[in-house]
Amino acid sequence: MSLNESLVLQDAPVSSCQSPLIEVQGLKKYFPVKEGFFNTKIGDVKAVDGLSFTVEHGETLGIVGESGCGKSTLARCLIRLDEADEGQIHFDGDDWLALSSHALQKKRADMQMIFQNPYASLNPRLKVGQAIGEPLEIFKRSGGQALRNEVLILLDMVGLSASVIDRYPSELSGGQRQRVCIARALALRPKLIIADEAVSALDVSVQAQVLNLMDDLKKELGLTYVFIAHNLSVVQHFCDRVAVMYLGKFLELGSTESIFHSPQHPYTKALLNAMPIADPQLAKAQRAGRHPLVGELPSPMNPPSGCRFHTRCPECYSPCALEEPNLLQVEGKTLHFSACHLLESKEMKEIPYVNP
Ligand code: SF4
Repeated sequence: MSLNESLVLQDAPVSSCQSPLIEVQGLKKYFPVKEGFFNTKIGDVKAVDGLSFTVEHGETLGIVGESGCGKSTLARCLIRLDEADEGQIHFDGDDWLALSSHALQKKRADMQMIFQNPYASLNPRLKVGQAIGEPLEIFKRSGGQALRNEVLILLDMVGLSASVIDRYPSELSGGQRQRVCIARALALRPKLIIADEAVSALDVSVQAQVLNLMDDLKKELGLTYVFIAHNLSVVQHFCDRVAVMYLGKFLELGSTESIFHSPQHPYTKALLNAMPIADPQLAKAQRAGRHPLVGELPSPMNPPSGCRFHTRCPECYSPCALEEPNLLQVEGKTLHFSACHLLESKEMKEIPYVNP
């Protein structure tokens, strides 16, 4: 067993199994950019640029970063709504990217997605009962009265009354619609749910209700989540581990506790600096010594050389524009990795991040 293997297994937050539910290695997704009359390719948008990570059974991995950093493309590649250009995904023992479309259709029951917009993700012509029951019919898991009973159980699970079964989505509030989306995602009893900004479109009070519901369902059904969000407070509340993404790469990866209380990467510090804190005294204390995030996200078509964050980093120094830093283990933190030259020079501990 390698060092990293033992580290991950020791400290896996809620894992009871030895192999991760999903293991991603060197995942890349580039979108070609074309222009002119002949559609000449002039470059690629490097949306996901060589990501490697694992998600343990029962774990919630949060992915955070600014808009345009590649979070949603990563989600779409994981569930194969977009096909990755390079890399490997092993999901629940399967070589996920090698599955034929027929095999994938069967296995998709185990990996479901909740989208950001509950208004757009439900067919307005289907009643709630039809929308939730549709996957059960497609996968031939249920029919007739048994299907209706199953839908009623799912409605109860997500805290909706049986009376909504014959209503149309337009008759429901945003929070109720997102609960319907969750019920639909749960219908096939998946192992992994990818939630892409699942609560971003909801009011704050409804966000809390939906998050608590997702948390309860995780415990009840043993679900695993990949939770994509740009709201750091939500991620802190909900996730076991957090990956900080910037221009298609992870800059920092660690337990939620470690990332929020002892961030190492200047980008993570800048993101945390922008988090609203109600108590002004606490805000002042927490922001002491941290720099605000300045400038705009560079184009993912032409990311900066060396460290991708160097054009906005207040701590940038000579090697930063020349050499790309590796994701290295932070001294004394078994599951905390950061990609910054400062870490290499300060800590002098070079245990690279590798998938277990
Ligand atoms: Fe800043 Fe350099 Fe670290 Fe990048 S490698 S985050 S530019 S100090």
